[in-house]
Amino acid sequence: MKSCCMRVTTILCGTGKNCLYRGIIMIAAALKQQVCNTIDTRRDEIINIGESIMDAPELGFKEQRTADRVKETLEDLDLSYEEGLALTGVKAVLRGAKPGPTIALMGELDALQVPGHPRADPKTQAAHACGHNAQIAGLMGAAMGLAQPEITEQLAGNIVFFAVPAEEYVEINYRIGLIKSGQTTFLTGKQELVQLGQFDDIDMAIMIHTTGPDVSDGSMGLSPSSNGFVAKNIRFLGKASHAGGSPEKGVNALYAAQLSLSAINAQRETFRDEDCVRVHPIITKGGDLVNIIPAEVTMET
Ligand SMILES: [Zn+2]
Repeated sequence: MKSCCMRVTTILCGTGKNCLYRGIIMIAAALKQQVCNTIDTRRDEIINIGESIMDAPELGFKEQRTADRVKETLEDLDLSYEEGLALTGVKAVLRGAKPGPTIALMGELDALQVPGHPRADPKTQAAHACGHNAQIAGLMGAAMGLAQPEITEQLAGNIVFFAVPAEEYVEINYRIGLIKSGQTTFLTGKQELVQLGQFDDIDMAIMIHTTGPDVSDGSMGLSPSSNGFVAKNIRFLGKASHAGGSPEKGVNALYAAQLSLSAINAQRETFRDEDCVRVHPIITKGGDLVNIIPAEVTMET
């Protein structure tokens, strides 16, 4: 590092703009190499973080242990942080010595619910089937690489390491409860963080998301893009009556829901591939008792 900086000084003292530019490139390349070397050196530690989170998956807005893992790593790096953002989010800022933009690197804390997954939590069925544990490991690896005095001395701007909660849109009723009790305003983490102003000091936010690789040789895959979503809760109301004694007096809400599923499915062939539209409704309540014509059915999509 030092020899590289000294060489740059000589170039700057020598001639004009081209040399200045070349000097900056050299510094940047050397710094990048230092970051990469540090990450490589701490490889096992980074993988351990990912694996330990894989073995302790938590659903959105409940990621306390995962957030603790992030906080431990940030403390080891002497990075101060804010915690409990949108309930479980953790945000640390690495301040560069020079003015410049603030870039956030994000990692998602939460898991999915996948019963039968080999590494699912036996109690909650939560599992990191979406690979968010790898996101957090990557985020911590980036923090290890970047939080070094030689880097911050040359850094123009700031880097935010942001572990964000509740990306997966699950347990909607639980989250509606959080909203009703005033603990959140939105059903997912990033929207809530935007609402809380936690992105106001950030000029650009970046994250990775893993995907299944095309080959099965142990390689990993990264998604080139992500979709947003619109959520709908639908309630079908009918009229209850005894299903055995007087079914003719009822109005079956389940059949209305069933017809709507067919109608939604009929729409699918009109979606253009390039629009990446996915519609995947589930019926969350199909009735009350098998002996009663369903008076209320709920659907979520
Ligand atoms: Zn995901």
